[in-house]
Amino acid sequence: MALQPFGDRDGYIWYNGSLMPWREANFHVLSHGLHYASCVFEGERAYGGKIFKMREHSDRLINSGKILGFDIPYTADQLDAAKMEVVKANNLVDCYVRPVSWRGGEQMGVSAPLTKIHTAIAAWEWPSYFSPEIKANGIKLTQGRWARPAPNTAPVHAKASGLYMICTVGKSEAEAKGFHDCLMLDYRGNVAEATGANFFMLQAGKLHTPTPDCFLNGITRQTVIELAGLRQIPVVERFIKPDELKDAEEIFVTGTAAEITPVGQIDDLSFKVGPTTRQLMEDYAKLVRA
Ligand code: PMP
Repeated sequence: MALQPFGDRDGYIWYNGSLMPWREANFHVLSHGLHYASCVFEGERAYGGKIFKMREHSDRLINSGKILGFDIPYTADQLDAAKMEVVKANNLVDCYVRPVSWRGGEQMGVSAPLTKIHTAIAAWEWPSYFSPEIKANGIKLTQGRWARPAPNTAPVHAKASGLYMICTVGKSEAEAKGFHDCLMLDYRGNVAEATGANFFMLQAGKLHTPTPDCFLNGITRQTVIELAGLRQIPVVERFIKPDELKDAEEIFVTGTAAEITPVGQIDDLSFKVGPTTRQLMEDYAKLVRA
């Protein structure tokens, strides 16, 4: 099947302050962001024409830039307005929204304080990160060989492009072995997350989720913790060792793209898509369209 490249589509992309035709939203090969990963981004979803947790995503983008040492030259209000402009200009109702900010090519040394900060926002239809058939039985994970880095070795709380290098390698290796994604441990050997989604497991009526001290405390993760509270399901944030996975009754991952996705297998362990996961999936689906 021939893939339609992302650069060759109809529509509009918001680029440094205004909409431009999709195919013209390009940048030069000598851009600092490309060479040194001085780049941050967001992943958001619109449901029924409304972007879920839009402000939280704008705030996180601005903060990710600050963590990488640059100021995105737009306020959260301006970013919110731009995102809605993109969704409307492309006649989208249910879609994925991708803001991205990066250092330009005015300087090509490692330190580049005089580079211009570029910002673009695109949106496209992306119904499900994992297909409904895969979701019905849960995705298959395998433990990846790349660890989430320690907080003093990488800007772990930024949604920064550079951090996805190990995710792309890890997920590709997992797929080559017949799995859907990899489960990443952290630098201490604790369970951390999947390559683009946070981790939860149900054990004796409580949800357990790793303490997010070296990876993103996802916006979906925080939403699911609130939803669990409304259902009187206790949530425990703690360090989880891989050998505890065999005692889990249900496992799922959460993220803007993945929403709530059940996990059916982690290497040779199998898990059922259980009632707690189903209930939270239903609650989440209602909330995002509320
Ligand atoms: N961890 C990683 C590595 C991610 O890429 C994402 C997706 N942004 C998440 C967790 C979940 O974050 P959120 O719920 O804010 O989308």
